[in-house]
Amino acid sequence: MDLGIANKTAVVCASSKGLGRGCAEALAEAGVHLLINARGEEKLQETAEAIRARYNVRVDIVAGDITNQKCQEEILSAVDQPDILINNAGGPPPGLWSEWDRADFMAALDANMLTPIALISHLLPGMIERGWGRIINITSQSVKAPIAALGLSNSARAGLTGYVAGTARQVAGSGVTINNLLPGIHATDRVVYLDEQLSKSKGITIEEASSERAASIPLGRYGSAKEFGATCAFMCSQHAAFMIGQNILLDGGAVNATI
Ligand code: NAP
Repeated sequence: MDLGIANKTAVVCASSKGLGRGCAEALAEAGVHLLINARGEEKLQETAEAIRARYNVRVDIVAGDITNQKCQEEILSAVDQPDILINNAGGPPPGLWSEWDRADFMAALDANMLTPIALISHLLPGMIERGWGRIINITSQSVKAPIAALGLSNSARAGLTGYVAGTARQVAGSGVTINNLLPGIHATDRVVYLDEQLSKSKGITIEEASSERAASIPLGRYGSAKEFGATCAFMCSQHAAFMIGQNILLDGGAVNATI
């Protein structure tokens, strides 16, 4: 299927690996030029080179912490009139409700709510003026069904989801769509880290922790960054113009809900 977005430009935050990279690669495959970002410059360079070589699109980089205002400004001044914004950042650590203080909540809110909102606020006016735009926020299945140990994530992502629900409808007539893409468990470094945490807390091996989590998914396996990216690229395509303010869950059936 021709996604109809060749030669558009996308900012893909937090994308040197994992789900962000999956989105960047799928957009590049559709002919979209990219600005990618992550804190670690070496891995970011390596990813940019691999994408350029494979898809023959322009790939610019800005190394830095996306939650940092200076980094956001650098990205905004490095890219001319982006058509697509993929919001992403690292997820908060797991823990127990009694361990989190205000600083923990502020860090989670910054990464998973206020940063995406800041970038949306900066880029929306230009997209509206040009009559076309696609904004996707990578959130989590925890928005549909809470993951108890990820209380910081549950809280911050719920805030972003509420913001998107209203804002997407406010700008719906402008040609700009805003939607969220909710990963269930996907095989990325983040998931290896969460498997390690489970193995430590339960005193089981990492393999046992991973099998236990895979068994909680009706499909019986983790998702891949490639599958995730393909869905993201479709949501950015010309074909998804009627998708407004939705929360698209990719979880292998893990969330046991009728809708
Ligand atoms: P990952 O494999 O660890 O990759 C994270 C990427 O983001 C890396 O490129 C990392 O590079 C970059 N990054 C992290 N924090 C950043 C920051 N503050 N500023 C700029 N770049 C940053 O993680 P992932 O699995 O793709 O997860 C992506 C998001 O989806 C997270 O918010 C996670 O909580 C959420 N999620 C993931 C899953 C899953 O199953 N994988 C499920 C639900 C939700 P640097 O470290 O070099 O910055």
